Amino acid sequence: MELKTPAEIEELARGGAIIGELFRELEGRVEPGVSTLQLDSFAEEFIRSNPGAVPVFKGLYGFPGSLCTSINEEIVHGIPSATRVLDEGDIISLDVGIKLDGWCSDSCRTFPVGEISPDKARLLAVTREALERAIEAAVCGGHIGDIGHAVESVVEGTGFAIVRDLVGHGVGRTVHEDPQVPNRGEPGKGLELREGMVLAIEPMIAIGTHRIRTLSDKWTMVTTDGSPSAHFEHTVALTTEGPRVLTGEVSSVSAQ
Ligand code: MG
Ligand code: MG
Repeated sequence: MELKTPAEIEELARGGAIIGELFRELEGRVEPGVSTLQLDSFAEEFIRSNPGAVPVFKGLYGFPGSLCTSINEEIVHGIPSATRVLDEGDIISLDVGIKLDGWCSDSCRTFPVGEISPDKARLLAVTREALERAIEAAVCGGHIGDIGHAVESVVEGTGFAIVRDLVGHGVGRTVHEDPQVPNRGEPGKGLELREGMVLAIEPMIAIGTHRIRTLSDKWTMVTTDGSPSAHFEHTVALTTEGPRVLTGEVSSVSAQ
C-alpha cells in the first residue's frame, strides 16, 4: 500500500470531483422506462468529455460497462443492458470508477426509481448513514476495525444485514489496492490508519440475508434470499485535518 502525498491527493480530488458531477447528472436520469445501458452510455460519454478521464471499470477484468448497474436484490457488478429497464419502485446502485491522469477514484450510490416502499427507503437511509459514520471513523491514528465497527453500529438493531463477503479497498494508481476495508470490525483492531491512505469505504447492506451468490452471467452478485440491497461508497483520503471525501458531497440524510 502506497501512501499519497498532499499533492497526489489533490490530483485524486480532481478525478473524484468528476464523479461527484456525474452523480448529480445521473440522479435526474434515473426514472421508470430508462434502460441500464442508457445510464451507462451517458456515464461513459460524460466521463470522456473531461480531457484525460477514462471509465476505469470498462474492460477491468473483462467487465463490459463503465457503470455497474445493480437493481434491487443485485448487490454489485450488474451489467448494463438495453433490455434491462427500470420500473417504478426499483432501487438501483450505480457504481463508477474513473481514472484521470493516472489516478483512480471509485464511488457508488443507490437511487430510488420513482416512489419506493418504506422498507427500501429505510434501507437507503441506513446504508447512507453507515457510510457517513464509517467515513467519520477514518482518522489518522485509528484502525481499520474502527471503520467496520462504525458500519456495524449503524446497522445493529435495524434488522438489516451487512454483506460481509464484499469489502472496501485502497485506491490509487489502480482502482483496487491494499488494504481491504471490511464493513465489520472491532474498534482499535487491524491496520493502523495513517496520513496519505486513500480508501474506498463502501458499506453494502441487505434487507434480509447477508448471503450472496453470483448469477450465471458470472458478474452480477445477488442476495440469496432475493431481498433488496443498497450500496454507498466514497473514495476518502486520510489527512491530518481528518477524512477528506474525494468523490462528491456526503449527504446529510440520516437513518430513520
Ligand atoms: Mg465502486
Ligand atoms: Mg470499490
